[in-house]
Amino acid sequence: MRPFKRRVISGIAAGIYTILAGASPLKAQTDWARGGVCYEIFVRSFFDSDGDGVGDLPGLTRKLDYVKGLGANCIWLMPIAQSPSYHGYDVTNYYEVNRDYGTTADFKRFMTEAHRRGIRVLVDLVLNHSSSEHPYFQSALMDPRSPYRDWYLWSPVQKQNKNWGAPVWHRNPYRDEYYYGLFWSGMPDLNLANPQVKAEAQKVARYWLKDMRVDGFRLDAVAHFIEAGDTVMNASGNNPWLRDYEAAIKRIAPSSFTVGEVSYDTPDVILKYYPDQLDSYFTFQIANLLIDAVRAGSAARLIPALAYSQKTFPPGRWSPFLRNHDQTRTMTEFKGDFTRAKIAASLLLTLPGFPFVYYGEEIGMTGDKPDPRLRTPMHWKKARAAGFTTGVAWEPLQADSMTANVEAQDTDTSSLLNLYRRLIHLRASNPALGTGDFVPLATANDAVAAYLRRKGNRNVVVVANLGTARASGIALGSDKSVLPAGTYTARALFGGSGSTTLRVNDTGAMSGWIAVPALDPLTVHIIEISKRD
Ligand code: CA
Repeated sequence: MRPFKRRVISGIAAGIYTILAGASPLKAQTDWARGGVCYEIFVRSFFDSDGDGVGDLPGLTRKLDYVKGLGANCIWLMPIAQSPSYHGYDVTNYYEVNRDYGTTADFKRFMTEAHRRGIRVLVDLVLNHSSSEHPYFQSALMDPRSPYRDWYLWSPVQKQNKNWGAPVWHRNPYRDEYYYGLFWSGMPDLNLANPQVKAEAQKVARYWLKDMRVDGFRLDAVAHFIEAGDTVMNASGNNPWLRDYEAAIKRIAPSSFTVGEVSYDTPDVILKYYPDQLDSYFTFQIANLLIDAVRAGSAARLIPALAYSQKTFPPGRWSPFLRNHDQTRTMTEFKGDFTRAKIAASLLLTLPGFPFVYYGEEIGMTGDKPDPRLRTPMHWKKARAAGFTTGVAWEPLQADSMTANVEAQDTDTSSLLNLYRRLIHLRASNPALGTGDFVPLATANDAVAAYLRRKGNRNVVVVANLGTARASGIALGSDKSVLPAGTYTARALFGGSGSTTLRVNDTGAMSGWIAVPALDPLTVHIIEISKRD
């Protein structure tokens, strides 16, 4: 869909979490994301409980054990408020669950069941714009004296500003004037600088955090919240607005958490505009570098970018991922190569921060533009509509749904699905992988990525051969002190063992350690090193 195509280029988002009281097993602290993994779900495509071809909240609730089994401790739901579009990024009622997906009661039941399993839930919060069908916008469109007139942006003439080639000022069909909608005429921008709109946005947050008991939000289109003349991205008013909003959210739910798709840019640019407002930032740059590195068989650009992210973002406050709902799926990028998909997943799940996994990535679902084909129904089993629905799926499934599905991979120990399960659980149980520092290691071979994850006295080394040639005698090194001097015992956590001993000299630098004598093409080794005595 057109507006969505533009959304991809702009890139923006965010989320929050709060914690529950009472019988919930959740602990009242904000750092539950540390060591965790969040699973992004498009409700329309996950599981249909009533045969109408549309995924729904009761269906999602029935699949919570699948998410639990995957090991994710968090779910991000793409928009679930009432909307006329299939994707939901144009809201007509911020206080109503999309009727295609179910009722308020269905949502509350889903939340109860998610929390019972220790899974937190973030929902997409779309504040930059409403739907053009929102009653407030319709009122403002038809009546110049409407109380909602100043909730949107108007011009007596059609300014020529364009965004990604399309006009951003759209004609009012009722009179000779124009309204502003950055993404599309069907998505008029809300005038968030208006204190009334700001107050309403806080009320929406309160509703979802308090009444619906969600654990946070993914804030959509953050960079475009405030306009300043022709500046419609990262305008100076954006920063204080977002800071105020985040503060309001924390007052409502002190332990809530936000993650934002704020920019496709490098960490320094992200932090320049949004230095402290969000709990985490999606790293689009890293997503593309991960895919590129595995495809090209070279870690030359990836490792420095990871080191820079680790250095620049506050500890843990970044969210790596491979693909989301706006991007060509990983398996399509790799032309169906499961081996490369496994390497990419292994890198992702051994990085610092709070990683996100888009539904279906764990079974290697394919998908390319246009957008609905990136968001096709989940493949559950070898059955009609891959077990997604007993009716006619809202969008045709991918051609490989009979073979690339959960059922086919569930009991295959070498499957992509079981790799995801294993590594997500490993990350949750190993503090170095979960929350440790990221220290790049030199390999003298661009095809080999190597890094140390370090937390207290727990240390894990990741070595990956991204190339198609066997790499023998690869010595790992660091240019500075990275570990206390001494002798270490190496133990393979994943990918088989090699050397059993590592000696770190008095300088604390790692030097000449051949962790694995021969690295087979497209393999990953995860090795725990423990200091003796
Ligand atoms: Ca349904």
